[in-house]
Amino acid sequence: MRRAIYPGSFDPVTNGHLDVIERACTLFDEVIVAVAINDQKQPLFAPDERLAMLRNAITNDNVRVAPMEGLLVEFAASENAHAVVRGLRAISDFEFEFQMALMNRKLDPDIETIFLMPKEEYTYLSSRIVKEIAKLGGDVSALARKFRIKLGEVAPIT
Ligand code: ADP
Repeated sequence: MRRAIYPGSFDPVTNGHLDVIERACTLFDEVIVAVAINDQKQPLFAPDERLAMLRNAITNDNVRVAPMEGLLVEFAASENAHAVVRGLRAISDFEFEFQMALMNRKLDPDIETIFLMPKEEYTYLSSRIVKEIAKLGGDVSALARKFRIKLGEVAPIT
């Protein structure tokens, strides 16, 4: 079985992430969306909220959403996955992604990283920009649908 891990913060999941998941589903038998728990980025949404938003948004049968702690290569090996999927939006993503992919290869040469490009209209989309627009009262329904905005705060739909 060809199984891939799609790791990230997903804080929150956007239509860009969903586009990458759809594409990964056509290439792999199973895609595990791994939500990073020990995130240095101080996420806005708690791990459970991020997991719930993803589970609400994903409709594909061959996708599993799971929390991930620790090293990505160890998580991938424990799930018997040999591929890591990452999204590439623009040149600006490239340097960091390249460094991570090569480091992961050094840690475990059996795991291959593959990059998928989203639909053009999602190339400008990021969780950070969605949070900023939502906090300022802007409409994010076309970018990421599964949460609402309350008193200037962004809250997931439960
Ligand atoms: P991380 O903190 O690991 O970067 P993110 O949730 O921000 O987590 O992103 C997870 C992955 O999804 C990364 O590979 C990122 O480049 C990719 N990604 C994020 N937004 C988009 C988008 N709009 N289109 C395509 N890929 C995206």
